[in-house]
Amino acid sequence: MEQPLSKADKAAIRKAILEQVKDLAAQLETYRKSTGTGDRLADESDVASRNTEEAVISKLLSRCAKQIRLHNLALSALNTEDFGVCEKCADDIGLKRLLLRPTATLCLPCAQAHELAKKRHRQAQSTKSGFADFQATDEPEKEITPPAPLPAD
Ligand SMILES: [Zn+2]
Repeated sequence: MEQPLSKADKAAIRKAILEQVKDLAAQLETYRKSTGTGDRLADESDVASRNTEEAVISKLLSRCAKQIRLHNLALSALNTEDFGVCEKCADDIGLKRLLLRPTATLCLPCAQAHELAKKRHRQAQSTKSGFADFQATDEPEKEITPPAPLPAD
């Protein structure tokens, strides 16, 4: 059990949330700009790869928008009793994790178990869509990366 979050901890988390939202908003802007720029040769394979590219970007866009929503939720939940408490085991999520991922609603062990279960589920579903890696998750393993490089064909 870790110490309950102090006022200073919450202020630090609040700052982290605001910074992350700023980054996310910038990413969102970058993704938006990278769609619909039509100065490429329009041969058939290029159109196909552009369609793939735009599908990927649109996934990233919606993931980014979702993250911003989650951050805003975290911001409004910050001063409630439930903030920083694992939804699953009711243990403390921990300041370190909350600073890195203020949107976390699960402690690390629970999140890892959840991710593993989800990964198995995804593998079982096979790669029907071809975008399995881009499916929005509540607990992405990595922070969202910039749009380039996009998968080449
Ligand atoms: Zn837990």
